[in-house]
Amino acid sequence: MVKVNENFLKLPGSYLFSEVARRIGAYTAAHPEADIIKLSIGDVTLPLVPAVIQAMHAAVDEMGTAGGFHGYGPEQGYEFLREAIAQGDYAARGVDIRPGEIFVSDGAKSDCGNIGDIFGVNNVVAVCDPVYPVYVDTNAMAGRAGEYQEELGRWNRLVYMPCVEKNGFSPEPPEETPDIIYLCSPNNPTGAVLTKDQLKVWVDYANASGAVILYDSAYEAFITSEDVPHTIFEIEGARTCAIEFRSFSKTAGFTGNRCAYTVVPMELERGGVKLNSLWNRRQCTKFNGVPYVVQRGAAAVYTPEGRAQIMENIDYYRRNAQVIREGLAAAGLTCFGGVDAPYIWLRTPDGVGSWDFFDQVLDRANVATTPGAGFGPSGEGYVRLTAFGEAEATRTAVERVAGMFR
Ligand code: PLP
Repeated sequence: MVKVNENFLKLPGSYLFSEVARRIGAYTAAHPEADIIKLSIGDVTLPLVPAVIQAMHAAVDEMGTAGGFHGYGPEQGYEFLREAIAQGDYAARGVDIRPGEIFVSDGAKSDCGNIGDIFGVNNVVAVCDPVYPVYVDTNAMAGRAGEYQEELGRWNRLVYMPCVEKNGFSPEPPEETPDIIYLCSPNNPTGAVLTKDQLKVWVDYANASGAVILYDSAYEAFITSEDVPHTIFEIEGARTCAIEFRSFSKTAGFTGNRCAYTVVPMELERGGVKLNSLWNRRQCTKFNGVPYVVQRGAAAVYTPEGRAQIMENIDYYRRNAQVIREGLAAAGLTCFGGVDAPYIWLRTPDGVGSWDFFDQVLDRANVATTPGAGFGPSGEGYVRLTAFGEAEATRTAVERVAGMFR
């Protein structure tokens, strides 16, 4: 009889978002008049910008002609998009990334999960705590996480790097040297960022030990601070130790369109093998490319009009983040993040547990949050708020929550 991958059986239920939805549903059923505002959504809400729409319309029309029809495209992405990315996201910042180092995909989530295919099962993996759950669960599925310890909320073979107030939510190199290190900046869920100096420490550490950094920069577009790098390849030495994940999801509202990319530099080798060749082999075998129409839409983000339009949307979310941060701080609450990221990490007052605070805010302010404990043990005592909502609703939600504490 067939044997299933037993690693899947070790996974705890994906508790966080389903439990949030369950509690909101139960509350709404009991209080049908309640006007719940969700500061918990991790999805964008503004529509696609005109430059993207025009490019996609034109591409659809092209696909309807004999001369402009596109079937299977290159697995790595069309040259026009890889070139636009190399110019727009890297050369424009003085960083040399060549189109051959860029792999266009259907999402940073897929790439962060699939990248494990090119690494052996015996590697030691380090993740932040709290963390975007995809890094943890995909390693668990591959058998790299060991056993799940229910009472600790941790996997026994993963190395956890606590990101807490004491270290400014910035991970520190662990005692046990890992082989694979996931870093996420701007961070989901804490909204913290790594500065150039902090990232340099990691790059030097990885180069010295032979580890590989998997750098998730899905929220890069939200960076405003001068000392925060937009790409790990701004850091000297990163080309020999890092893989970078980027996405059009939060940058250009592509969560429903699906387009992202991964950068694997040619110099990145381990055991005499180029990781770029392995990733290329993996993608060519298991992936058949992003739709032509979507890639044309993504390329439009790099035109002057496209750029200006997406930055207007990012500014809209940034203003929401500011409203949340300042409104809650004025009510005496302590918030982190929200400056270079769309996420605000709110410390619950008086040491209230994440889920208790979630319930209190839902009940008294009719505002939904995301309990920090759901992202890992070090998230206990915090909730995550997001800036992706509608501006007026965000303002109202903040007033209601602030009103609980004035
Ligand atoms: N990486 C992080 C840190 C995220 O928070 C998300 C989405 O929430 C993703 C990646 C997924 O991006 P994509 O929509 O490109 O799959």
